[in-house]
Amino acid sequence: MALVHSFGKPDLFVTMTCNANWPEIKEQLASGEEAQNRPDLVARVFRAKLLALKKQIIEKQIFGEVAAYVYVVEFQKRGLPHVHFLIILKDGYRLKCPADFDKFVSAEIPPMTNPSLRKSVLKHMIHGPCGNLNPACSCMKHPNTLGCCKFNYPKPYTSDTIINGSGYPDYRRRNTGEVVVIWKHNMDNRWVIPYNPY
Ligand SMILES: [Zn+2]
Repeated sequence: MALVHSFGKPDLFVTMTCNANWPEIKEQLASGEEAQNRPDLVARVFRAKLLALKKQIIEKQIFGEVAAYVYVVEFQKRGLPHVHFLIILKDGYRLKCPADFDKFVSAEIPPMTNPSLRKSVLKHMIHGPCGNLNPACSCMKHPNTLGCCKFNYPKPYTSDTIINGSGYPDYRRRNTGEVVVIWKHNMDNRWVIPYNPY
């Protein structure tokens, strides 16, 4: 990729997924109408949120000064859009050590002291269940990794974020003993999809 050639390895890969339950969508639906039948509305609200996120990243510099970025919008099967940002930060802001990653990414169940984040993460950012708990999960059916989770969940516990051999982080997932019940299964920090806690 020309961008990576010119500016170096990306620091951040940020995804935002459209949620059909966003209030800005729900409040515009007529009674009995479903978001999936209003692609015009969904696309408009999503675009507004995408521009707001872009402003936070590029102008407000929430991750630091950006050297280069690119994003693509994709549509899922039932029409809900999501966006992937690839972000390269300027020297001096690049993410290098575990503490740099911990500033922007968490892969643990948020504490009770942050109930709204906790509720969002438990609702949207727990993978599966898959593996032995749910062999029918779609992530278990990829031809190259048949019978295993193609995303490698559950991830191992790790007491601290570590930079692995490929230069990417394995995020901190402490074995706190805390368990949450999702779809009747006991889930813990090994199942959390990394998210931005801010
Ligand atoms: Zn899986």
